[in-house]
Amino acid sequence: MIDRRLLRAEIVYNGLGTPRTEGAVAVQQIGAEQTVIMVDKAQTVRESFPELSESDVFFAISPPPANAHTHLDLSHMPYLEVTYENFLRSVVAHTRAGHRGLEAAKSGVAELLESGIDVVGDIVTSEQVMEYLLQHPRLRGVAYWEVVSLDPVEADRVFDDTVKRLEAFRTLERPGGVKVGLSPHSPHTVSTVLMTRFAALSRRLNLPMQIHVAESPHEVALHRDGSGPLMEMLRTFYPAWQPSGRRPVDYLKHIGVLEARPTLVHMVHVTEEDVREVQRAGCVVVHCPRSNRALDCGRFPWELYGKHGVTVGFGSDSRGSSPSLSIEDEVAFARGLHAEKANVGSLVRAAVKGGHRALGLTPPRFVRGDAAEGLHLWRRRLPSGG
Ligand SMILES: [Zn+2]
Repeated sequence: MIDRRLLRAEIVYNGLGTPRTEGAVAVQQIGAEQTVIMVDKAQTVRESFPELSESDVFFAISPPPANAHTHLDLSHMPYLEVTYENFLRSVVAHTRAGHRGLEAAKSGVAELLESGIDVVGDIVTSEQVMEYLLQHPRLRGVAYWEVVSLDPVEADRVFDDTVKRLEAFRTLERPGGVKVGLSPHSPHTVSTVLMTRFAALSRRLNLPMQIHVAESPHEVALHRDGSGPLMEMLRTFYPAWQPSGRRPVDYLKHIGVLEARPTLVHMVHVTEEDVREVQRAGCVVVHCPRSNRALDCGRFPWELYGKHGVTVGFGSDSRGSSPSLSIEDEVAFARGLHAEKANVGSLVRAAVKGGHRALGLTPPRFVRGDAAEGLHLWRRRLPSGG
């Protein structure tokens, strides 16, 4: 028996070209097999198949989005709305109390899969979590080994130790599974000499890198002249820290890190020149709007990245600064936040295509004849259309 249905959505994005508004996907079911038979404007699909029963209107239909930046091992951290500096202090306390680790990462993975996402960019701080992610049968993406090391005197030892770990982790990579990456935490929590060596390593080994950049509004003052609350906090860890006198993005460019094309996370406090540099370097940027709001970090200039053609993906960041790991929630929040400054279809495209690009993966797509299991049906549109 053949059953045919028309799935409608405010945005239909099949992974190719421009997302369609008021789109539809016609699906045919024969036995257990469901196949896409048409993707177009709802009106056009209706004219081609006038007999089809119509679904409720979903917000979007697309290939599955990716969560391009999170910290799964913090999934047991209580959600906080505090300043960035106080958040870092809370993460340190939560870690010291022993609540960070494998059990939390397992909860996070279960939540991700439940939300229909199996592609993730995760920041990893323990060998156990790294091994778990690399061996997970359903996950894809990148597990980035995180390094925080402020004192340049430690650089050689930390570099050698990191290379050894990465080599061991890489033996656990499986085709089609999670890949090993590296995350020097931020331009101010990794010494210049170590950051430079990591960038060279990333280029040599084709190792994906992810760095938190320009997240807090205080990061600019810190790098400019070593002033502000972030400096006060850093001083407690490493009193000799010296500012470069440059903006965070310009600093990374100056020391050759952008040439390794790292994925840059947050990127809220940037100038147009920073955005141009990132575009020239070919880096992908990850936007975490709910975390930025929770930690009072300001609004990401979505329109500026759009103007310069920078590829942007979405990440939830950790459960400590985000109420869920859902990218649907992230996009819904971004829609309200950016309002008329962001085209709604471009938000969906970023969640799918940008998220995969941020992790070095080929973005998924679906066309006529493909299995309908590959469709991600976003939640139904509210009666108000919101
Ligand atoms: Zn993060």
